[in-house]
Amino acid sequence: MTSDDLSSARLSPRDDLKPSPDSFSSARRSDPDELEPSSGGVGSGRAPADLLGRLRARTGTDPVTHVERVPARAGEPAPWPDWAPAELRAAFARRGVLTPWRHQAEAATLAYEGRHVVVATGTASGKSLAYQLPALATLLADPRATVLYLAPTKALAADQLRAVAALELEGVRPACYDGDTPRAEREWIRKHSRFVLTNPDMLHHGILPGHAQWSGFLRRLTYVVIDECHTYRGVFGSHVAHVLRRLRRLSGPPGRPTSAALPGSRGAPVFVLASATSGDPATTAGRLTGLPVTAVTEDTSPRGGVTFALWEPPLLPRDAAADPQDDLTQVRRSALRETADLLADTVAEGVRTLAFVRSRRGAEVVAANARRALDEAAPGLGDRVAAYRAGYLREERRELERALLHGDLLGLASTNALELGVDLVGLDAVLICGYPGTRASVWQQAGRAGRSGQEALAVLVARDDPLDTYLVHHPEALFGRPVEATVLDPANPYVLAPQLACAAVEAPLTPADLTLFGAGTKEAVDQLVAAGALRARPTGWYWRHRERPEVDLRGEGGAPVCVVEAATGRLLGTVDGGSSHFLLHSGAVYLHQGVSYVVDSLDLADGCALVHPEEPDWSTHARDVTSLSVVSVRSYVDAGPVGLFLGEVDVTSQVVSYQRRRIATGEVIDTRPLDLPARELRTVAVWFTLSPQSLTTAGVEPADVPGALHAAEHAAIGLLPLTATCDRWDIGGLSTAVHADTEAPTVFVYDGHPGGAGFAERAYSTATAWLRATRDAIAECGCEAGCPSCVQSPKCGNGNNPLSKPDAVRVLDVVLANLPDGIPAPRTPADADPPSRHPAR
Ligand SMILES: [Zn+2]
Ligand SMILES: [Zn+2]
Repeated sequence: MTSDDLSSARLSPRDDLKPSPDSFSSARRSDPDELEPSSGGVGSGRAPADLLGRLRARTGTDPVTHVERVPARAGEPAPWPDWAPAELRAAFARRGVLTPWRHQAEAATLAYEGRHVVVATGTASGKSLAYQLPALATLLADPRATVLYLAPTKALAADQLRAVAALELEGVRPACYDGDTPRAEREWIRKHSRFVLTNPDMLHHGILPGHAQWSGFLRRLTYVVIDECHTYRGVFGSHVAHVLRRLRRLSGPPGRPTSAALPGSRGAPVFVLASATSGDPATTAGRLTGLPVTAVTEDTSPRGGVTFALWEPPLLPRDAAADPQDDLTQVRRSALRETADLLADTVAEGVRTLAFVRSRRGAEVVAANARRALDEAAPGLGDRVAAYRAGYLREERRELERALLHGDLLGLASTNALELGVDLVGLDAVLICGYPGTRASVWQQAGRAGRSGQEALAVLVARDDPLDTYLVHHPEALFGRPVEATVLDPANPYVLAPQLACAAVEAPLTPADLTLFGAGTKEAVDQLVAAGALRARPTGWYWRHRERPEVDLRGEGGAPVCVVEAATGRLLGTVDGGSSHFLLHSGAVYLHQGVSYVVDSLDLADGCALVHPEEPDWSTHARDVTSLSVVSVRSYVDAGPVGLFLGEVDVTSQVVSYQRRRIATGEVIDTRPLDLPARELRTVAVWFTLSPQSLTTAGVEPADVPGALHAAEHAAIGLLPLTATCDRWDIGGLSTAVHADTEAPTVFVYDGHPGGAGFAERAYSTATAWLRATRDAIAECGCEAGCPSCVQSPKCGNGNNPLSKPDAVRVLDVVLANLPDGIPAPRTPADADPPSRHPAR
């Protein structure tokens, strides 16, 4: 390779990103995440299939398990709905939107007729038009009506503001209202704006507590738009669900019921939600809003073609397995190393590439390795690659985005699509290092690639992980119908009670609110009364204190821990509270921008870790110990020798030590104790039990039962994200040959958040599909005795010992042979029984 390759491929700044006026799809931009088409390109001879061919030819064994040609799709236009006023059609036409796509028109009409609707279609399918059309038509028809728009990020809200403002509609006066809004402008917005764009945090901390000042706006509220609603999952999603219920009780004309708006009525506001494609969007949107929601899921927008390759790094001979930069002694070549090589290769070809890596550490490692490989080929070339992640300060992030957009950078390794600026699209190739946890994320990340008239390349590189292994061998799970659902649990008492307190401050709780806030509300209200927080009066329940309750929508994770360089006081970045015990314990090796630091001390009270620069030749790996007891059983399936349960559990876990491992060889140097506090967790778990007899019959020797259950537990945790949008770090597990509460061999999988976040519940409901995928992932892994791609876990508190891969398959075969195909819906928490009421195996 010569430097000429690069200069000839160099992108001219900005010009490449301008929409080309003659392109049909570019004339229809209405979505902030829509692919930016380009009039230019990186040159001929770089068709994705050719590029992929060159990439896969560089290795001895072909790592590609599947190539999916996602074909270009022609759009299916529909006429403007009759009710859309001519003024609005003309405004959209001026912006290049000549007619809507069919799914946009359908969703818009449902919403205009007063139906709550969720549009769950692909990236860049024009979801914004589906809510802009009914909302703006209503604002034009009724000069007093108002609209509230919620986005998960300020950047998205700002982008939507630009889109609505560009329509130049008389009297709409759209405005963003968030933490950055100057005080001087706030009063004007409350009084005069009829289209307010904000985020759930501002709604929770600002608008609802100050609802008296917003009463005019809220009384006349006709539409609530919830963009990117799939991001409201887990504990955060459960909080947002109640913030929306608080909004519902304070909006619309006074005296109207808080039930669903009836079609055609203009009483309560209509909710329009936009979601990435997912399993069962209507149910999720219904849980989020507490309202019946109709889903529109057929995507009729056009899209560019993508060549999508599934890439499984090869198994390495044992002695050559050590990867100098990775966490584990690998059996497969590490996905990080593989992605770094692919990034170096594409950058060397002048292909502008974005690599998505799940962990912050991983993004650093991929960028560092790609830089090194490029510099070895041509000194200085490594400067064209950088790392990007959430922990960086805002200015650092914006600078990197700018450099990639302008072509100063050709390769960027990043942690998460949501952190990226919405303009960062139109890349030539996207590398996804490890399944990002949801199909929605896969498509969002892959959607960063592609320009009009040019095919793009996307490569998913499998990590050593059971789910990744399953997906690269079961492409239908990725490219077929989605099964994973966005999961949240508004009935979580740890979320419900503080939210009821917030609601009571805003307006006394009434009997109608017991229905509005859903299952468990009466119990939570009674507990708040008993605790002295609420006073019961004939007219309702009143908040007794002067000050408001402090409620963090992001749950118990706590404030992020700041990472500070001890000698200079410089803030390097932040780590979320929940991960800090694992990543920032004293002695931990911490990477920032490819520079290695060692933690001197972690002060949990101050939320601060002091570090110094040091590059030791070892990496650090924290270990924790866990115990669990069953508090109550909510639901169970008695399936002969097998039992499946859902219930509340108490989990106690503590990070107790860390291992230092030689980077070059993976060899364990030593294990050092840590003195960190235990973390107590009352949460929700799913568990299954087997009779010892059934295990013996299946050929599992009693001595192998612990290893069989432990291996099944690891793989089951790894596969849960297939049916629930969680991360394996959101959930934990425990397995034992005999548990005191179940008196049988048992595997527990629990939500890693107080009160549960809905993951265990989803696992229970989809247990048959979940455990079948788990069984297949283990059975189909090419290793002999178990590896990180099947039954080993990177977060095992027992050092992945004991584990028995073949016996895990036998255990799951017994479970699957007995479990019914359909699991009845679980009961609510209030109906739970003590564990003693249920059969021992
Ligand atoms: Zn394996
Ligand atoms: Zn384990």
